[in-house]
Amino acid sequence: MPFLPDQYDVLDRAREIARAYLAGVPTRHVGGIATPAALRAALGGPLPERPRDPASVIEQLARDADAGLAATIGPRYFGFVTGGAVPVTVAADWLTSAWDQNGAMYVMSPAVAVMEDIVSAWLVDLLHLPKGCSVGFVTGCHMANFAGLAAARHEVLRRAGWDVEARGLQRAPRVMVIVGDEVHVSAVGALRMLGFGTDELIRVPVDGQGRMRADLLPGALESVNGPTIVCAQVGNVATGASDPVGQIIDLAHAKGAWVHVDGAFGLWAAAVPELAAQVSGVERADSWATDAHKWLNVPYDSGLAIVADPAPHRAALSLMASYLQRGDDEQRVGMDWVPESSRRARVIPLYALIRSLGREGVADLVRRACALAERMAGRLAGQPGVRVCNEVVLNQVLVQFAGARGTGPDETTREVIARVQADGACWAGGAVWQGRHVMRISVSNWSTTEDDIDRSADAILRCHRDAVA
Ligand SMILES: *Cc1c(COP(=O)(O)O)cnc(C)c1O
Repeated sequence: MPFLPDQYDVLDRAREIARAYLAGVPTRHVGGIATPAALRAALGGPLPERPRDPASVIEQLARDADAGLAATIGPRYFGFVTGGAVPVTVAADWLTSAWDQNGAMYVMSPAVAVMEDIVSAWLVDLLHLPKGCSVGFVTGCHMANFAGLAAARHEVLRRAGWDVEARGLQRAPRVMVIVGDEVHVSAVGALRMLGFGTDELIRVPVDGQGRMRADLLPGALESVNGPTIVCAQVGNVATGASDPVGQIIDLAHAKGAWVHVDGAFGLWAAAVPELAAQVSGVERADSWATDAHKWLNVPYDSGLAIVADPAPHRAALSLMASYLQRGDDEQRVGMDWVPESSRRARVIPLYALIRSLGREGVADLVRRACALAERMAGRLAGQPGVRVCNEVVLNQVLVQFAGARGTGPDETTREVIARVQADGACWAGGAVWQGRHVMRISVSNWSTTEDDIDRSADAILRCHRDAVA
């Protein structure tokens, strides 16, 4: 296909469609409403044999996908921990695609390499982490956990006289890994990919909010010898509560262990003066994993792997080949810090976000979500048969609904969740928290207002009344 300027007219069509979609988000059904069969019928068909006009491809795509889109970018989506993309980041993301830069090395895109250096310094400043940390721009917190824990594995084995990148793990000194009992599945999955099995993890019990019991950590540390990694968590995915990281770090460091912190959303508390106490001491950890596509509200495909000492970070992940000519050693090699080589220039939307919001705007984004979560809890708690099950310390609210006529709260809660999802005014998911079924409400979107919270609380309470009627 020749490079014809008018092929790019399709971009204008995409822009119009995107604007129309975004304009409709506040009023559309928040969940996807199509059935899988309807989506397959609309989007499927045999492999196309012949080329087709790009504008019609885009128009058909937008039309046929529409009923299967969840309005996660909108103000009343409270599922999982989901940010919406701030408009300036969508615009920057469009440029990222139009420029189509490879973020692997300086020579492939000098602008992207320089932006990665700049944004690394900004992020470390925003989160009050030590100057000089290395930052890898990864796809999400899962890969950030992988990168941070790979650096940990490298360093604890190096100190034991073992080069794990050269000699592998099979004959290496045994590495012990200590986690809280409420460790996120992502950290467990990352450890698994690094050769640490699920059953090998030493799990420290947690308190009623899911925080690792620091008083029980010394016992766990005493039970192990040699290379040790402790994996702490700030921001429990159910309650939002953070492990007592300062204490954990002091105890672990006294035993020579590496501390990795999974802070997918909770680490952003560090950017807000009145919330920072919840994660106090976190800056003394050895590595941190966090997300930008959750609470920082940039488009998907954005996580951050941060390591206090760049040496083990690079040693664990860097690739070398004769054709990957790095050029000037002074210049950034983005792929040294991530488990990828060629990759999207995902720093660009992040650059635009921080430029646009600044330190105050980021703090305000996080602070506002917390205030709205508290408002939601206040609207629900105390209503007949409704119980908020967690201390609302951050942006997460867990709710349980009592049933009627011999129906238990677990069953009723599941019924309320199904009704809320079908109703479409807002979207919330479910989980099992300490043996009970709960509705999980995560307030993480930049555009949510008090009115959105009130309308959503009304819809949830209406669904509960209907469920027990
Ligand atoms: C979401 C989450 C992850 C995984 O992050 P992704 O962005 O889905 O890769 C890891 N840890 C915690 C605590 C999370 O909330």
